[in-house]
Amino acid sequence: MSIIIDGKSHCAVCRKVIRAGERLVAFSAFVLNEKDPLWQFSDEAFHESCFLSQPRAQQAKRCYELLKDECGPERRICRECGGLITNPDDYFCTGYLTDEPSDLLYQFNRVQLHQRCVSRWRGLSPLYSTLRDYQETGRWTGKAAVRLINHLRTFLR
Ligand SMILES: [Zn+2]
Ligand SMILES: [Zn+2]
Repeated sequence: MSIIIDGKSHCAVCRKVIRAGERLVAFSAFVLNEKDPLWQFSDEAFHESCFLSQPRAQQAKRCYELLKDECGPERRICRECGGLITNPDDYFCTGYLTDEPSDLLYQFNRVQLHQRCVSRWRGLSPLYSTLRDYQETGRWTGKAAVRLINHLRTFLR
């Protein structure tokens, strides 16, 4: 969730200040790709009624909650070795990449790995190639999006 400071956060829809006591919905920066249809929700806060007026509100809520559920600290299972990941410094997660099942990135949503297991993971190279391809064709853009590509590159040998 975004940090809401009373009287300081602006609603991403109506742009008015969200006042103390008003019902609100807030998201942390869970979308990496600025071209993703859910980008408008990432790292934003909304009056609850403004949020519900958005066509993709339920989709955003579902994707956000799925990410929080599957990648919560208690359930971090490594895709490569099957072990529980308990050390936050030894944790890598691909996060939310897309909600479009026909997209090549869909299979790589929310993959969790020990840092030490990333190089061995068979998805590393295909994920990296797909992201590079999307970047070149303008489908994968933004600071956080590029950061993921650069991070993955450090694991490639
Ligand atoms: Zn509003
Ligand atoms: Zn592992």
